[in-house]
Amino acid sequence: MDHFLYKNGTLHAEEVAIPEIATAVGTPFYVYSTATLTRHYRLFTEALTPLPHLVCFAIKSLSNVAVLKTLGNLGAGMDVVSGGEYLRAKAAGVPGSRIVFSGVGKTREEMRMALTGGIRQFNVESEPEMRALSEVASSLGVSAPIAVRVNPDVDAKTHEKIATGKKENKFGIPIARASEVYAEAARLPGLQVVGIDVHIGSQLTELEPFEQAYLKVADLTHRLRSEGHTITRLDLGGGLGIPYQRSNDAPPLPTDYGALIKRTVGDLGCEVEIEPGRLISGNAGLLIAGVIYVKNGEGRDFLILDAAMNDLVRPSMYGAHHDIVPVAEPPVASPTQEFDVVGPVCETGDTFAKGRDLPLVGEGDLVAFRSAGAYGAVMASEYNTRPLIPEVLVNGDHFAVIRARPSFDEILNRDSIPSWL
Ligand SMILES: *Cc1c(COP(=O)(O)O)cnc(C)c1O
Repeated sequence: MDHFLYKNGTLHAEEVAIPEIATAVGTPFYVYSTATLTRHYRLFTEALTPLPHLVCFAIKSLSNVAVLKTLGNLGAGMDVVSGGEYLRAKAAGVPGSRIVFSGVGKTREEMRMALTGGIRQFNVESEPEMRALSEVASSLGVSAPIAVRVNPDVDAKTHEKIATGKKENKFGIPIARASEVYAEAARLPGLQVVGIDVHIGSQLTELEPFEQAYLKVADLTHRLRSEGHTITRLDLGGGLGIPYQRSNDAPPLPTDYGALIKRTVGDLGCEVEIEPGRLISGNAGLLIAGVIYVKNGEGRDFLILDAAMNDLVRPSMYGAHHDIVPVAEPPVASPTQEFDVVGPVCETGDTFAKGRDLPLVGEGDLVAFRSAGAYGAVMASEYNTRPLIPEVLVNGDHFAVIRARPSFDEILNRDSIPSWL
């Protein structure tokens, strides 16, 4: 459920009419709903109650500081995968005690930044990384809390580019080697083992792979405890999928996911951490675009939008589907037309949808891409020297620009000409 509904014939974000925002900021732009972000965060916390838990929002899905502050103020923790994301979490006022640091390639500088600024735990993904962290923490005279990310070798049954829990993926250490790795962690100075971490992929539409992974984590908890390690936290990752196609998708609900967590690891006396990104932010955002031209081709018609693959790359990168709806509500039983929906970038890959049945829309009309809050703005680029598009946050009947569109001067001034030219 989200808070983007038609009211009086016009698509709204909560109480704000989308055309009102379009007039203020120009198209294209992203718009996010505070109410939807809040609702999704609460679904997870409610699903995990009464287990001791922390819901750490995966910043990589939507990293605007205003969004992070919205969630942080509710008590959310943050899952960061870079020093930059760590600084975003801090800028949003989230204390280090609620920030977990994931990612396969943390640099020593990033470790130093988090150790000096405060960190809940590092999710360590390899032995070389563990040794580097030991060195950095020792040199600072502190102890780094760690969970080791184990790779449970389960098939997440999702898109190959976002599956992370098979043994051939680059993530974590093989679960079969966990004893060895934890033994080394216990020997190394500057490290304090606090738990186990697992994350098997993104956009999972079934619970079964989670169940397989979490049962393996439960077994491992017993084994590591019997080997003398203190396991007080289980970080179970993110990855719960969302319905991208309202007509036929029905992924599992956070309540069912919470029940699964309680069933598989609930009796281990551990604090549970989860790292949802997409399920909190995905359906909390729309990408709004204007129609530049309707071009009638041979055998197909093109809807040419002012948004392009550089603004929302998921369709060209993953073949992802986004529902596209007109901002002006089409009359009931109004005729539809098949369009290829494309952007202005000079690549055939700049196609959002092929042969999509849409209500009649024309030049100057606004359309909305649904489910664009996650992995939308954060993956945008300035390809074709198209400025990064604005982000807007709605809260009830008011809205604010939370990232402005840069001017062309700002973009050009980032380049510098060497003295020999
Ligand atoms: C990407 C990622 C997440 C979030 O995944 P979603 O599918 O957006 O929930 C959580 N944890 C880690 C380690 C990740 O890499």
